[in-house]
Amino acid sequence: MGASRGDGRSAAVLPSGVTVLERGWLSSNNVVLHGASPEEGAVLVDTGYASHAEQTLALLDASLLPAESLRLIVNTHLHSDHCGGNALIAQRHGCSILIPPGEYTAISTWDETALSYRSTGQRCDRFTPAGKLTPGQVLRQGGRDWHVHAAPGHDPHSVILHEPSSGTLLSADALWERGFGIVFPELDGEDAFEEVAATLDIIERLKPEIIIPGHGAPFKDIAKAIGIARERLDYFRREPERHAVHAVKALTAFHMLEVVHSTREALLAWLASTPIFVSTWRRFFSDRDLLDWSNELVDQLIAAKILGASTENGSVMLQIPKA
Ligand SMILES: [Zn+2]
Repeated sequence: MGASRGDGRSAAVLPSGVTVLERGWLSSNNVVLHGASPEEGAVLVDTGYASHAEQTLALLDASLLPAESLRLIVNTHLHSDHCGGNALIAQRHGCSILIPPGEYTAISTWDETALSYRSTGQRCDRFTPAGKLTPGQVLRQGGRDWHVHAAPGHDPHSVILHEPSSGTLLSADALWERGFGIVFPELDGEDAFEEVAATLDIIERLKPEIIIPGHGAPFKDIAKAIGIARERLDYFRREPERHAVHAVKALTAFHMLEVVHSTREALLAWLASTPIFVSTWRRFFSDRDLLDWSNELVDQLIAAKILGASTENGSVMLQIPKA
């Protein structure tokens, strides 16, 4: 079972018993670890964004083998694009959820201040975990041992899953084919670039043969990906404000993927009311006027063709251009 993709590039070959539901950038990839028999039940790694939950459920159901049910959901980390489908899928399949230990209390009490959904202006439906997916633990599934490793950097509590016999690594947002996810703690003034580097070292030492990232197609040229990631990390370390700009642009694009289209005024109002933008502006760019800075960000996203702009009834309408 392989990753489905339509761009004509040959997909990396996945080990047997693993199905990748490759998603776009609003929803993370979903990985189905099938049981050795239908009775064992499948495990789903990450569940996409909340607004895609029904779609994720349909993709999951289509990928299950005859008579196979879903026994468990596990999350690599608790960003809204990785666990937004937890509530719906757990309810429909009657399965339990395991999450990394770092935010277990915050999730169990649904402390939205401690969780990132409020500060990043994103959605996540409330779910209740049954237990923890702790680094050092081995998840036995489908005759394979998936080793859980801590992977801080992008998110301090993230884990990655490694299956040594097939050399398969589920890298979440710690390593993509071309880069890695926003280093969120850095936006709050906490040093985390070192953790990104340490996590890349861990991935290198695991010597994976194939990586299934949180976003994008599975890939096999691990050395190249690690090289790109280290180069990018060095650039961000030298110029942390470049990372901050990259982060707010990526979060803006993520928001636009969610809302599909927005007037320029509504997007500027969202930026001004979303805590992570205001705190990033205050930390890195407070010599600028907030509105000027926000307008410049939007202009740069339009110039880079990440956002398309058109005029409708006298107001500027923004959307993510269709690929
Ligand atoms: Zn993430």
